[in-house]
Amino acid sequence: MKKLLPVEDAQARLLALRAPLAPEKVAFSESLGRYLSQDVVARRDQPAARLSAMDGYAIRSADLPGPWTVIGEISAGAAPAVAVGAGQAMRIFTGAMLPDGADTVILQEDVGTADGHLTLTGDNPGSHGAHIRDRASDFATGDMLVPAGTRLNPGAIAAAIMGGAAQLTVGTRPRVAILTTGDELVQPGRALAAGQIPDSNGTMLAAMLAPEPAITGIPLHVRDDRGILAKVLKDLARRHDVIVTVGGASVGDHDHVRGALDDAGGRLDFWKIAMRPGKPLIAGMVDDALLLGLPGNPSSAFVTATLFLLPLVRHLAGARDPLPQVHRAPLAVPLGPGGARRDYLRARLDQGALTPFTGQDSGRASPLAAANALVLREIGAPERTAGDIADYIDIA
Ligand code: AMP
Ligand code: MG
Repeated sequence: MKKLLPVEDAQARLLALRAPLAPEKVAFSESLGRYLSQDVVARRDQPAARLSAMDGYAIRSADLPGPWTVIGEISAGAAPAVAVGAGQAMRIFTGAMLPDGADTVILQEDVGTADGHLTLTGDNPGSHGAHIRDRASDFATGDMLVPAGTRLNPGAIAAAIMGGAAQLTVGTRPRVAILTTGDELVQPGRALAAGQIPDSNGTMLAAMLAPEPAITGIPLHVRDDRGILAKVLKDLARRHDVIVTVGGASVGDHDHVRGALDDAGGRLDFWKIAMRPGKPLIAGMVDDALLLGLPGNPSSAFVTATLFLLPLVRHLAGARDPLPQVHRAPLAVPLGPGGARRDYLRARLDQGALTPFTGQDSGRASPLAAANALVLREIGAPERTAGDIADYIDIA
């Protein structure tokens, strides 16, 4: 038997099949979840001037503990017209520019007015520079704010805007076609005849892709017919960057994805991975489109989509780290030894401890509802007891 490909090797080969798509410019409002193609570098100092961090009075620290004469007021968004001199204070609000001469802000809670003068009634701010945000104390022009390859979350978008960017350069979203295969499959919610089952994988894959920067079509379905499958693959390859098929990836008489790839003029890159579930995974190209053939068992489809489809989409969309992160946590229960393939056990992480489910049959769909983690069990791993540390991938 040909040696099965280790998961990491298969992932590396898959991502090497095609470079990330070309960058495009997008508005901030369109940038959430996209991957930056260029570093976002600050084009301005923030703050651009010394600002007050509090509501209070701008003074000269040399004049402490007062009293002061209040000479005016300055609020956020205005430029101060006059300087603060000896014995003088200016009313100031959070975010307002500090007037020349002033070097300290005293809090409004710490002063009182008597005879038209301001006096210290509470804490002495003590140091020079209290309650002031210095120029460029957040970042300076030229500072790196968000590196290329980062997935844009709301905080990264905010930092980029504050840095003076006008729009963002991000990876183009790959166009993904989902194709389910199998004579037994019926659209979700439809009545079933004997021998038929609902097609859950198509909608599951679309849901897994929904948060990703991809343009995913509604799932299509073809019967177990090699000729039709080949025609559909050829046709989809014209308008998509990724075609993900599900089902028919193995060697049974009704498994046609491998043959249809040849008939469509495609080229196989690898097939069969040292993992459980998900051994019969097909990767190849049909013209410029990547073909990923996932096995049809619901848990196999879920696990292989997590380990291959999502990383592929992220890579094409410009991710620096497209692979799922592996975390560590203690086992809540004992775990038997590993076998000849690496296991990805559907499991539940609760209060920091992992419980792999007892039923790991890849044909089962019900464990997917409760699972929030995939526990990795290495080939030939020894038996483990509760409390031992295990690797897992977050799938919540
Ligand atoms: P296959 O990979 O085509 O051999 O299918 C393996 C198992 O997964 C079979 O029991 C199929 O009925 C089932 N299966 C295949 N495709 C789907 C799908 N789209 N949704 C749910 N189950 C499926
Ligand atoms: Mg099938």
